[in-house]
Amino acid sequence: MINHLHIETHSFFGLKPGPKVLVLGRVHGNECCGTLAINNVINRIQNQLVNITLGKVTFVPISNPLAAMRGTRNGDRNLNRAFYPKGPTRNDFEDELNDILCPILEECDILLDLHSFLNGVEPFALIGNTSGDKKAFVANEEKVYTSETQLVSALDVKTVIANWSETYTRGVQNRRKRDRVLNPPFSLNYDEKYGDGTTEYARSKGALAITLECGQHEEVSAPLVGENAILNILRFLRMTDGRPNSVVKSRKVNYISLFDVIDKISQGDKFTKNWKTFMKIEKNEIISINEQGKELRAPKDCFIVFPNQNAEPGQEWFYLGERI
Ligand SMILES: [Zn+2]
Repeated sequence: MINHLHIETHSFFGLKPGPKVLVLGRVHGNECCGTLAINNVINRIQNQLVNITLGKVTFVPISNPLAAMRGTRNGDRNLNRAFYPKGPTRNDFEDELNDILCPILEECDILLDLHSFLNGVEPFALIGNTSGDKKAFVANEEKVYTSETQLVSALDVKTVIANWSETYTRGVQNRRKRDRVLNPPFSLNYDEKYGDGTTEYARSKGALAITLECGQHEEVSAPLVGENAILNILRFLRMTDGRPNSVVKSRKVNYISLFDVIDKISQGDKFTKNWKTFMKIEKNEIISINEQGKELRAPKDCFIVFPNQNAEPGQEWFYLGERI
């Protein structure tokens, strides 16, 4: 039985100094894989199948207990948007969660946020950007430098998406211009900070952060993808003993950098295909036709990312990305 009156966390402290890792599960209440993955890892640690020898790892198995109790994505709203402390201006359940979770995120050096998706094929990860900004840690008296691109290489994913946050912010600025909404206060649709989720908040406090989409919501292998990701990150950071990293190092990772987000404008706007994330689009290919019959064509060879057939008018409809 899930209790939505509190948040439960589990921490393990190695006896030697090292990085502080935070793993979040079920930021979206219907994405159970993160909770299952975390519980399996806790179980392994408690049974001494894995030992945390340095640093600190904290697990939040259920980050949004109201949504989890209902089995829905959101409680009152999407917890992975407008993620920052609300203080006295709290006005929904997720605002209350922000005030509990933000200080926990502020403490971490590395955040791994485990999710699952509705439509799609393979697991993928999201990072901030590919510039390779490094962060230094002391691990067992030794200074270790790592970046989000290095950390993501320890995960078993073929595709990594970058630049979501910048693209989202630019999209909001275009939306404001289009709708002539130029002066604050901005409602959520026009708020650049609305795009900030867990990873953006952690990065703003100096952490490295990765979102891992472990597979489809009901995919039986999704919890294992999450479990391996947690163990591989901990091993990569030398925080555990045990077997060496089992990731196939020769696997090629495709980086897709998002460069545009397109809003749906009217209810009658239609896709020309049943687009799915990572489908290829050729330059000049028609992606959609709006209510007035105007075609929208791809500006260059690219990929479609997060197409949402059910988007509301005025909301983001799909993203375009290119391989880098
Ligand atoms: Zn999610």
